[in-house]
Amino acid sequence: MSYFRPEIEQMAGYVPGEQPQGGKFIKLNTNENPYPASAAVGRAITASIERGLAKYPDPLATGFRRRAGEVLGVGPDWILCGNGSDDILTIVTRALVGAGECLRLPYPSYILYRTLAQLQGARSEEIRFQANWSLADDFTQVSRDTKLVFLPNPNSPSGTVLPPERILEIAERLPCPLLVDEAYSDFADANCLSLIAKSDKIMVSRTLSKSYALAGLRFGFLVAQPHLIEQFTKVKDSYNVDALSIAGATAAIDDQAWLRENVAKVRKTRDRLTAGMRALGFASVDSEANFVWNPHPEIPLKPLYEHLKAAQILVRYMDYPGWGDGLRISVGTDEQIDACLAVLKSKM
Ligand SMILES: *Cc1c(COP(=O)(O)O)cnc(C)c1O
Repeated sequence: MSYFRPEIEQMAGYVPGEQPQGGKFIKLNTNENPYPASAAVGRAITASIERGLAKYPDPLATGFRRRAGEVLGVGPDWILCGNGSDDILTIVTRALVGAGECLRLPYPSYILYRTLAQLQGARSEEIRFQANWSLADDFTQVSRDTKLVFLPNPNSPSGTVLPPERILEIAERLPCPLLVDEAYSDFADANCLSLIAKSDKIMVSRTLSKSYALAGLRFGFLVAQPHLIEQFTKVKDSYNVDALSIAGATAAIDDQAWLRENVAKVRKTRDRLTAGMRALGFASVDSEANFVWNPHPEIPLKPLYEHLKAAQILVRYMDYPGWGDGLRISVGTDEQIDACLAVLKSKM
């Protein structure tokens, strides 16, 4: 006899990438930013501590929503803040998808979406990307009980993007909302923000974990039409973002000069990583994110992952049943990428 709901007993649970707590590894496995965040973030957090933490934070993080709204060109009532964008994805799933209903996602993509469906006692349908990482028209042919579609753009693990025009077309054909997960869009050429005003079916989630170098802070947000934000607000925990992260996140989004400079550096090193991997025979995919997906046409990759790990370099080995395997390597500093390429070269 179990104390638990059957769907909890039966699910495997989401397993995040390895997070070794010693400092020795070159960490290229979970798409963290290799550079320190804007110095304004630390100053804002210190000031918040000096003001004291005895009081509850603003439940809606309106200071952040105002500043982010100015940067993104929307009103504060178009933004909902979360404890990382994973919290946003959870809130949206809980609000839209009931037990026995269905959630759709592309395959291969972010595995957490499947876990979120399982927690609801809902089904998930995974629709394969085509070989060139585009989506066929059957992606929009959904059953009547499909209540939410997730689309990471840029996608993980591929780093590829669907153009905003294509995403609008997909949304218009769907009977339910489409959440475009833009965790990596700051590293890309285009994003879907401007589509939100055109269709209330399109929602965008963002995170400060990757492009703002704040994975440890846990701050993400949703952008959607105000009547949707109002409903999602009922579902979130009352104080889902704490005073220190509101302070840090507001300072981070305020420093757009830092963001532009960081993105330029990461994109430059991304080219170096892609070229270096291709020179070693990998079929590396052109990426618009801060990582590169590297399948190899001939050699087994799990041993290479192990070899890198023994050399204190952590990358992500992923094997997608029915699709194939690859090494997903985050864009580190030039020095980190050169070290990774040198270890791979010595083994190939
Ligand atoms: C990293 C990542 C997130 C989650 O980011 P957090 O804000 O750290 O929770 C969401 N979606 C995708 C596709 C990601 O890779």
